[in-house]
Amino acid sequence: MSLLKVTNLSKEYKGGTKALSNVNFSVDEGEFISIIGPSGAGKSTLLRCINRMIDATSGEIIFDGVNVMSLGKNELRKLRTKIGMIFQHYNLVFRLSVIENVLHGRLGYKNTLDGILGKHKEEEKIQAFKIIDKLGLNEQAYKRCDELSGGQKQRVGIARALIQNPRLVLCDEPIASLDPNASKIIMDHLKSINKEMGITCLLNLHQVDVAMKYSDRIIGINSGKIVYDGSAKSLTREK
Ligand code: ADP
Ligand code: ADP
Repeated sequence: MSLLKVTNLSKEYKGGTKALSNVNFSVDEGEFISIIGPSGAGKSTLLRCINRMIDATSGEIIFDGVNVMSLGKNELRKLRTKIGMIFQHYNLVFRLSVIENVLHGRLGYKNTLDGILGKHKEEEKIQAFKIIDKLGLNEQAYKRCDELSGGQKQRVGIARALIQNPRLVLCDEPIASLDPNASKIIMDHLKSINKEMGITCLLNLHQVDVAMKYSDRIIGINSGKIVYDGSAKSLTREK
């Protein structure tokens, strides 16, 4: 059984923009897939439909045997602990420290931000520090996120996703705001959580060369439709 199966997915925004038209693909556990395509192709819309940040217009999304589009509020919260999301602009709480942002991930979007550290069990904090260490952010643990570089901010984004023990991590243009050096560090971390922890990764990327270097499989999207789905190698051959 695949981890994620998207069937005939379409999304039409208010105002009439058809961002996705009958998109079909499935993802097996452990895959590392990049979605590529020009700006406005529908990549971001697709990821946002999968974790229900927005509602698709029609079609079906099955994740881990669950029909994502029919979930109520509480079930959605549970879904989002299994699906981590990483954003181009990090979406951190910038006035809070690294450790607070990472622990906040575990709160599952519900608690108020104040007193986050106080509310956490010791074992949760230990786990958070382990993840921070893995991402090389030890020295930054108590720094406010607005004092970090872009690459460090994105590592916090990854740490915040990881603390929930996700099965799938969705990355919406994770390196689009970073320089090549920071980009490489982020891509290497994503590859390592995939290979070492077995977490399935689905990324939107507009750097085709990066997508081909890191991915097992590439999905090409143009005007809301899948125009390529295959290995990075055969994409090279076609070019
Ligand atoms: P990509 O991520 O590939 O750049 P998007 O999914 O962001 O593409 O956008 C796909 C299309 O949907 C574009 O035409 C975009 O302008 C439109 N779109 C995206 N978000 C919205 C929105 N909230 N409301 C209306 N149209 C949107
Ligand atoms: P970014 O690249 O920083 O993610 P985008 O331009 O893709 O920024 O989108 C920023 C926000 O604007 C998103 O919430 C998206 O849904 C919305 N958006 C994008 N395109 C449109 C559009 N054509 N009409 C309305 N909202 C849009």
